[in-house]
Amino acid sequence: MLKKELKMKLVYLDHNATTPIDERVLSVMIPYFSANFANPSSIYTIAQKAKEVIEDARSRVAQLINASNGNIIFTGGGSEADNLAIKGVAFANMDKGKHIITSQIEHHAVLNPCKYLERLGFEVTYLPVDKYGIVDLDALRKAIRKDTILISIMYANNETGVIQPIEEIAKITKEKGVYFHTDAIQAVGKMRVDVEQLGVDLLSMSAHKFYGPKGVGALYVRKGIKIDPIIHGGGHEKGLRAGTENVAGIVGLTKALEIAMEHVGKEWEREQRLRDKLEKGLLEKIPDCFVNGHPEKRLANTTNIIVKYVEGESMLTYLDAEGICASSGSACTSGSLEPSHVLIAMGIPHELAHGSLRFSLGRSNTEADIDKVLDVLPNIVKKLREISPFGKGKDDLVQRT
Ligand SMILES: *Cc1c(COP(=O)(O)O)cnc(C)c1O
Repeated sequence: MLKKELKMKLVYLDHNATTPIDERVLSVMIPYFSANFANPSSIYTIAQKAKEVIEDARSRVAQLINASNGNIIFTGGGSEADNLAIKGVAFANMDKGKHIITSQIEHHAVLNPCKYLERLGFEVTYLPVDKYGIVDLDALRKAIRKDTILISIMYANNETGVIQPIEEIAKITKEKGVYFHTDAIQAVGKMRVDVEQLGVDLLSMSAHKFYGPKGVGALYVRKGIKIDPIIHGGGHEKGLRAGTENVAGIVGLTKALEIAMEHVGKEWEREQRLRDKLEKGLLEKIPDCFVNGHPEKRLANTTNIIVKYVEGESMLTYLDAEGICASSGSACTSGSLEPSHVLIAMGIPHELAHGSLRFSLGRSNTEADIDKVLDVLPNIVKKLREISPFGKGKDDLVQRT
């Protein structure tokens, strides 16, 4: 078994969960763990140099997302950026109102801060999506009230890759004078993101989703937005995020974003070609399976498919034995028996949502990787269907107890 594992080339198709760090990113980070270790808040020369490095990184990130009209706040990851946006805006603006609007398909880093705020007396509207996973704009217009202070809608969904109409939403929120945050964690690095063109007030990103280090993210905050810190301490990050800066992480995030932006259009096309080949092949070779999400308004690297009459988790186990890494539902909900809240919001019945598989491609993937999945998955499904009590024609048994 071990021998087989060692010989097998890993086929990693879970880039929406995380990406390996780019060698070029790692090499610019290393000096900040040792030789350039100084605390940027200290006054001597080497500390001032570290401070300059951070400010240089901040302006480079700002430039890459066209954020000259605002600030970049470095955080301890994407979840923290989302929490800062939501709780920070809620606490700073509760004198104006205590109503927040978000969607049913957000990542838990957005949904759970909202649920927490509900416990503290805020009201939250969770907007529905259509069968393609796109937020209903009429429902959004109707949901906005006098006491609405924040709208948070993700840019691209991590499970389906579906892209939301952010520019249109921004027009609505601007008209109504409500702050607009977008969790752009799956979009940044995969596509060109321009906060001015989008018209957003706050935008989250996370380095490990674009070949940077884990545990570092950033929040764009437009000038003039009222926001409180959620981590209190020293006056770091314009008073919005206390704590000695993760200099290596910040340098890594910046380098990773620069590299991603250099190749953004080309890599999108390359991954799309491979993704489409994978999708088409699976649909041809596996009876009773279909793709979730919008056919076009979707990230180029993501495909989410449902294979009827089998469990997503079982397919993943068999794929893993072949050295193929994929996921079912989001990484956070994997391991629990709850089907994906995203697929449920799209109107997919529970018993089908259990059979979902997500493949998310990345830079390392080749034609051979896709061929391998197309070679092994149809057989896995065939085998599982033969032994499944939920097999075709046994629909009456699908009812779960
Ligand atoms: C990964 C992810 C997050 C969480 O980011 P972390 O850096 O892992 O905390 C939030 N939202 C979306 C859409 C994500 O894909």
